[in-house]
Amino acid sequence: MKLIRELHESLKEDSKLIIFCDNKILYDQSENSYSFAPKDLNLINQSKPFLSIALIDNCYFYVVNINKDENILGLFMDPKSINFVDLRQILGFLDQSSFLLASRASILQTWISTNGFCSICGKTNFYNENEGAFECKCNSSPKYPVISPCIITLIHDEERILLGRSKFFPSNMYSTLAGFIEAGENAEEALIREVKEEVNVDVTDIEYYSSQSWPFPAQLMLGYFCKYKSGKILLNDNELEDAKWFNVNELPIIPPDASISGQLIRSYIEGRSKL
Ligand SMILES: [Zn+2]
Repeated sequence: MKLIRELHESLKEDSKLIIFCDNKILYDQSENSYSFAPKDLNLINQSKPFLSIALIDNCYFYVVNINKDENILGLFMDPKSINFVDLRQILGFLDQSSFLLASRASILQTWISTNGFCSICGKTNFYNENEGAFECKCNSSPKYPVISPCIITLIHDEERILLGRSKFFPSNMYSTLAGFIEAGENAEEALIREVKEEVNVDVTDIEYYSSQSWPFPAQLMLGYFCKYKSGKILLNDNELEDAKWFNVNELPIIPPDASISGQLIRSYIEGRSKL
C-alpha cells in the first residue's frame, strides 16, 4: 500500500471509494468490506475533486463525504447488508492493513471537510499539490492533516493489571488507560501525569510497546507498559466511570485484538504465562 494525498478532478479507472456520512463509514456486512467500485454506486451528487488517499495494486482509493439526504447506494446494492456504521463497531472484523486504510480514510475525511475555508480570512482554501495540504493566499501556513499524540498504558503489578472503563463502553468492558500528550510534555511525562490524574496511582519502569493510528477522531496512540509503584485507586476526574485491579486469570471483557489496548493486555498475559 502506497500512501498518497492527491486531489483528482475525476476518478481514475479501477478505483475504489470509501464513503462517510456524518462520521460513519459505509460498510458491506456480507462482504466485510468498506470500499466500493464507482460503477456500483449512485454518484450523481458527488462534487469534484476527489481525494485519493492510497494506491494498492494500481487501484486508487478515494475518500468521499456525502450528505445525509444523498442516496449513494446503487440499484444493485442491498440496503439490508450495506449501511453506515460507526468505525468502532467493525474494528474487530478488520485485519491490520484494512484497519490502516479505514483509519486513514476517517482522519482524512475530517481533514478535508474542515479545511474548505481559511481560518484567518474566511476565503476558500486551495489545494497545494506540492505540499499535499490546503492553503490560503493570505498566509503561508499549509494545513496538513493534524494527528494528536496520545499515550495508552497497561499498569501491571505481578498477576494483576489495572483497567478502567468509560461510560461509553459496552457493559463489563474494561480497557487500558489513555490520554492526550500536553503541549511541551514528552510521552513518559504524559503517561505519569495521566495515570495520576485518572486513577491517583504512581507508576514506574515505563516500557515502550508499539503504536497505532486511532481515528476517533485523529490520534496516534503510543502504547506502553508501566509498573505500579504506589497509591490507592481514586477516580480523580470525570473521564472514567470505574477503574479496578483485575487478576490476569479473571478478566472482564477487554477490547479486541485490533486495538492497541487489546494487544497490550494480551501481550502482558502471554509474557506472564511464559514465566
Ligand atoms: Zn486566508
